Amino acid sequence: MIVYDQDGTRIELKDKLGGGGEGSVYSIAGHPHFVAKIYTSDADAHREKIEAMVSIAGGPDSARIPKAVAWPMAALYSDAARRTFVGFGMRLVKSAHRLEALHEYPAPAGMRVTMREKVDFLAELCDILAALHQLGQVVGDFNGENVIMEKGGHPALVDADSFCVRAGRRTFRCEVFNDDIVAPEIVRAARASGGGYASCPDDVFTTHADDYALAVHVFRMLMNGVHPFRCTPVPLSNGSVPAPVKTLVRVERGETPFFRKVRGVKVSPVAPELKEFPPYLVELFRRAFVDGHAKPASRPTAQEWGAALRRYRGELVSCGHGHWHWKGASACPYCAADARYAGVASKPVRAGGAPHVTTPPFGGANPASRAANGVAAAVQAPSPARAAGLGVPYWVASLLIGLAVFALLGAALPVCELAGISLGIGYPDWLQVAFLVSALAGVVAYNLLFVTRVEGKSYLFAGASAVGGMAALVLLCFVVAIVLGILLVIFLFGVAVAIFSD
Ligand SMILES: [Zn+2]
Repeated sequence: MIVYDQDGTRIELKDKLGGGGEGSVYSIAGHPHFVAKIYTSDADAHREKIEAMVSIAGGPDSARIPKAVAWPMAALYSDAARRTFVGFGMRLVKSAHRLEALHEYPAPAGMRVTMREKVDFLAELCDILAALHQLGQVVGDFNGENVIMEKGGHPALVDADSFCVRAGRRTFRCEVFNDDIVAPEIVRAARASGGGYASCPDDVFTTHADDYALAVHVFRMLMNGVHPFRCTPVPLSNGSVPAPVKTLVRVERGETPFFRKVRGVKVSPVAPELKEFPPYLVELFRRAFVDGHAKPASRPTAQEWGAALRRYRGELVSCGHGHWHWKGASACPYCAADARYAGVASKPVRAGGAPHVTTPPFGGANPASRAANGVAAAVQAPSPARAAGLGVPYWVASLLIGLAVFALLGAALPVCELAGISLGIGYPDWLQVAFLVSALAGVVAYNLLFVTRVEGKSYLFAGASAVGGMAALVLLCFVVAIVLGILLVIFLFGVAVAIFSD
């Protein structure tokens, strides 16, 4: 295939190296270190953004674009007159591993990357992000599929055409996000906008959102792939397991079990214990996930992370079992996590969470990433998980508790009357029936409306809801009595006015 760059230079594309839903990647004759991404559909939709990126690459900021980023270097056209835009040229990234694979626990077969190499890799990734932020650019969908470990262990960023690009006064949006790295303020904005990420206001796509994603990557790398907001449900006393709540919902609520007590859940058993990490790293995580939840600007910057990781790298010691851990730890936290994993390994556990996918090394034509992003975009309005059925035994038991509560209070009512405490209307049968119905209605309301929110079926709460139902009836009686009283006063006032006006 023959294409032309923005200067009209003729370029011959050779082998197709990979392809996805959006485009295909080709090698370029005579330029072994560069490749071309050719859009397979709707290339015009990308034209302005790519041309803006190419002009940044050719402008005064050219040298400030990190070499590790597969930034569009040339816009490509099917004709020398630049009538039909078809794609762009970028540097070739040779993938040894994707960051997402580095997060996997246990490590995929054949992967031998030590924690020291991973920390070096992360520190360099911080430098890349810091350089992009100094340029005024935001990655946006900073997910682990778009971060590559090249041979030699150095990081590279691909899929740059999906960045949130600022060129002059224009902002070219990033419209898809992977659930694992999307910051809480973007989740909130997507929900508020009603139209998903694509209709969020521009000002939520900030460097602080990238800083959140970076913190997630650092956390997962050190914590055997466990996401900071991922929770493991604790089985209830009756043996049932609460319905899972999506990580994105946890993110929006700020429920990280590593820093907060979250009802009904605990941290994953495969995560090393946070107290075995140096306090300066734990503090950065706290700022990223707790303080940064309400105030994104509180999150550590890429520069801060880079400095902390380099310090941590110097404090790593070997445990003798293939792990590198902090020299101040009481014991190797990874050995302890391996032992816990062995205990639950009868069922294979994937702590990382994101589905395992294999992808070609070229970000621009990364179908799995695109597919994952498509899923993320489709899940635009996160909602609390619904309980997967409460079960007949629970319904029977909770309604019996409601019945018992009614019987107890029903028995108490005549006693109250004997003691002289009375509503003044006695306790006729119809009122007893109304109390019975409202007690059971309280239990049903609790089961249907609240069990999923508190993530646990509780007989105590069911009983309390029966009392609540009966209390609501009493309140309703008072309200009705007051309303009737007011209507009566208005009626009498009307009669009086009618009489005296005669
Ligand atoms: Zn160890």
